[in-house]
Amino acid sequence: MFEKILIANRGEIALRIQRACRELGVKTVVVHSEADRDAKYVKLADESVCIGPAPARDSYLNMPALISAAEVTDAEAIHPGYGFLAENADFAERVEKSGFVFIGPRPESIRLMGDKVSAKRAMIAAGVPVVPGSEGALPEDPQTIMQMARDVGYPVIIKAAGGGGGRGMRVVYTEAALLNAVAMTRTEAGSAFNNPEVYMEKFLENPRHVEIQVLADGGRNAVWLGERDCSMQRRHQKVIEEAPAPHIPRKLIERIGERCAEACRKINYRGAGTFEFLYEDGEFFFIEMNTRIQVEHTVTEMVTGIDLVAQQIRIAAGEKFTLRQKDVQFRGHAIECRINAEDPFKFTPSPGKIINWHPPGGMGVRMDSHVFSGYTIPPHYDSMIAKLITYGDTREQAIARMDIALSEMVVEGIQTNIPLHRELMQDARFVEGGTSIHYLEHKLSQRP
Ligand code: ADP
Repeated sequence: MFEKILIANRGEIALRIQRACRELGVKTVVVHSEADRDAKYVKLADESVCIGPAPARDSYLNMPALISAAEVTDAEAIHPGYGFLAENADFAERVEKSGFVFIGPRPESIRLMGDKVSAKRAMIAAGVPVVPGSEGALPEDPQTIMQMARDVGYPVIIKAAGGGGGRGMRVVYTEAALLNAVAMTRTEAGSAFNNPEVYMEKFLENPRHVEIQVLADGGRNAVWLGERDCSMQRRHQKVIEEAPAPHIPRKLIERIGERCAEACRKINYRGAGTFEFLYEDGEFFFIEMNTRIQVEHTVTEMVTGIDLVAQQIRIAAGEKFTLRQKDVQFRGHAIECRINAEDPFKFTPSPGKIINWHPPGGMGVRMDSHVFSGYTIPPHYDSMIAKLITYGDTREQAIARMDIALSEMVVEGIQTNIPLHRELMQDARFVEGGTSIHYLEHKLSQRP
């Protein structure tokens, strides 16, 4: 096992990684921007290093500063968390070239999956079903593009090969709008992701977002740890996640889970990863793979009892991977609400000082948050301040516990989306389970 790990992130995930390290007896080095000086995990760290001013590009995205921080503290490995540099293959490469272990997949795997066109090609080769569409990037020739769209069938979605975070996508309903949409997405993709390549998919009209968690050792051993339903989204951003996904036959989940584990073996995938699918009419269609720990990993931990961050660290340390598929047993149901510092219905960010913070508790309640009374939420980063997770024997029990937990929670001084979550816990369609990715936006548009 490592003696010391550098945590190259902030907020709740920095604290989450730190907790796993402390449990494993590993010392932590926490890096922080000037804005995060007073964070709880900074105070709890064995060592901390300020890596620059508040803006992420000067601190959490500053590769030389991160690598020097690892050098001066003698850390052996770097955990990137999620966001920032977690899926940056160049960073992973620089970390390894500088003699540190990157806690994540090999740079080649990150690169392969970071380009959605090459990712889809790899999945087709591994026998994972994908959304039908252009096999590869769109060519220049307009006639060919029009013919492709006719073959796929309207509506289609034009997506940037290098896209992420729900950006760089455009839905096209008619041939008249096609070429313009392709041109616009190309231009945007070129400036936003430095890669103008776009591809085409059939636009699925009422799918659910269901994803499969995997763990693999970079060789022949790979297991899948069930699914998560992340269909409750706004602007392609997840709001609530749960495990297992309601009303999907276990046989179908097992079949797709096996495919994902097999795909990991084929590409010698190492570490934790997530295969994201759209699920419609009993079929799964791969959309992308995330080569990192995800925000919503907690719900999988609750139903499997497996600590995914500790597993990432053990795999990176080269410990023998002893987890077998039969050891992965599912029990009960877990739900996660992302608590954001924002107006609950207008969604404008609400940074500032938290005057009073009272987290909920009780049986089956887990709170992952770096926040405390008196903490000031900096305006520079993501608005998520906490993840509230509840667990129950059944989905009904997990929902009831979430409802109670949300009602106990007190956050004063800023606005949060707790009122929206409370409404959703009472929403008849959510309670029924199995809503599509469009449900939340539709519901919000119906509000007076
Ligand atoms: P990103 O990397 O930006 O998150 P994804 O490819 O994962 O992009 O897609 C994000 C979201 O966009 C999905 O969860 C879904 O809501 C929507 N989406 C993407 N592709 C399609 C498609 N072919 N049909 C319908 N919705 C889609």
